[in-house]
Amino acid sequence: MADRWRPAWADIDLDALRHNAGVLATLTAPAALCAVVKADGYGHGALPVARAALEGGATWLAVALVEEGVNLREAGIEAPILLLSEPPVEGMAEAVARGLVPTVYTRGGIASLSRVVAERGVPPVAVHLKVDTGMHRVGADPDEACGLAEAIDADPHLVLGAVWTHLAVADGTSPEDLAFSALQLERFDAIVAALAAAGHRPPMIHVANSASTIASAASRHDLVRCGLAVYGLTPTPALATALADATGGLRLRPVLSLRSRVTYVRDLAAGERPSYGRRRPLPADSTVATVPIGYADGVARRLFDQGGEVLIGGVRRPLAGVVTMDQIVVDCGPAGSTPVAVGDEVVLIGRQGAEEVTAGEWADLLGTISYEVLCDIGPRVPRLLHGEGPWS
Ligand SMILES: *Cc1c(COP(=O)(O)O)cnc(C)c1O
Repeated sequence: MADRWRPAWADIDLDALRHNAGVLATLTAPAALCAVVKADGYGHGALPVARAALEGGATWLAVALVEEGVNLREAGIEAPILLLSEPPVEGMAEAVARGLVPTVYTRGGIASLSRVVAERGVPPVAVHLKVDTGMHRVGADPDEACGLAEAIDADPHLVLGAVWTHLAVADGTSPEDLAFSALQLERFDAIVAALAAAGHRPPMIHVANSASTIASAASRHDLVRCGLAVYGLTPTPALATALADATGGLRLRPVLSLRSRVTYVRDLAAGERPSYGRRRPLPADSTVATVPIGYADGVARRLFDQGGEVLIGGVRRPLAGVVTMDQIVVDCGPAGSTPVAVGDEVVLIGRQGAEEVTAGEWADLLGTISYEVLCDIGPRVPRLLHGEGPWS
């Protein structure tokens, strides 16, 4: 790794990740745990996350792109890797060559994949047939499922490895959301029953993402596809409580924390307005600390308007002005009240002393979800791994 001079980084706690995988694997056994490591492992680093998840109890991995699966294989990962959407025809040869498990849901996709397998002269490839039970993103219509399963079963180059679906509001708690999830599960059960009646019995069926894995034992089936929970977060706080209730008190541990250090400090007079736009006057003569991380790193510019805070010396401190591309300014309170010095650690996401700022807190302030907060942490922020295994 190149030398680093800027003190801004993300700590990635792989012991926490192993712990989370273990908690989820225990909760869901005998269902298998598939750790979803798309989008560079939700911004944590796909490879270390994949390895730690497998060490912690996951037996499958899932990615969005053929490219992501190829990267894992090139690094020596041998576990089954599910592609969550039907691969583009241009990527099928590589997917097959790398032993990735394709999802399929179109006749064209099935035919193309079959041709690729035939051309390579390799043994039949297991595919996971995805049906759309209401998410309406990708997946076959329910009334096409039998025909597609028939096409797969009749194909000498393909095997039906699984049938699966994806829930749209698994994290919802409103009566409408609960009813819709129940409807999706019913539709899925009906599809599985219709397939069985037609003689198609896939060895696996799967439905659950993190939210439904925790909320609904009935959704776990043979495999659960968990992303967010593997990273130690739950889509809603209520799900953290539900997990603890279901496991006799087990809790997930956040894997990522975002940290920096104070690089500049000075006292400014009351009424001075730090940063672009001169948006807020300091209420008193104040100590203002500059911290070298900004919106180019994933610290949303809107965080200032929304009242974002960071931790310095174990104390919550508001931003003193708008987030800039490379730096933030922090209001450390009335001058002389707290010693803040160059080199002090600043926690943007994570724990410091008794205080914690979570990705979920940022998400609430910004009107988004913790997934997006994590994925927005940019490539300019080095990920420092802690608790690496023997493979490091
Ligand atoms: C991303 C994704 C998941 C994981 O969702 P989480 O809420 O992070 O657990 C599961 N299934 C599919 C199809 C996905 O796209």
